[in-house]
Amino acid sequence: MTDTPFASGGCLCGAVSWRAANPPARMAQCHCRDCQRASGTGHMSLAFFKEEDVAIEGEVTGYDATADSGNINTRYFCPRCGSRLFTRNSGRPGVVGVAVGSSADSGWFAPGAVVYEQSRPAWDITTTDIPHFETMPPPPR
Ligand SMILES: [Zn+2]
Ligand SMILES: [Zn+2]
Repeated sequence: MTDTPFASGGCLCGAVSWRAANPPARMAQCHCRDCQRASGTGHMSLAFFKEEDVAIEGEVTGYDATADSGNINTRYFCPRCGSRLFTRNSGRPGVVGVAVGSSADSGWFAPGAVVYEQSRPAWDITTTDIPHFETMPPPPR
């Protein structure tokens, strides 16, 4: 990837950086309780890229949690500064979720859905003019 990437970013301390060669396949705002606890706020803004489109430099630490689906969701952080960076799900091999807030410039983020609306706190308002789902909608085919 020597060309200008579609997007790039990294953690707070600079130990971990990433570059995405192409636009994400899906983007969403997630209000699930797991995202709330892992992020420390009302939702996570996530962009799901093809694994082969994302180059990651630096060491990350991953922590596993079982999702509602029964799949294992692994959340990756910078072990030096604690920044939340990536997500991988055992039910979706070949896909890496990027925490959009780690982007150098996140102006490209255009979520297609708000998921886990059922646990959205009243004080955390995300995008309102896109489909909202009480939990997780069925995966696209
Ligand atoms: Zn860091
Ligand atoms: Zn979530």
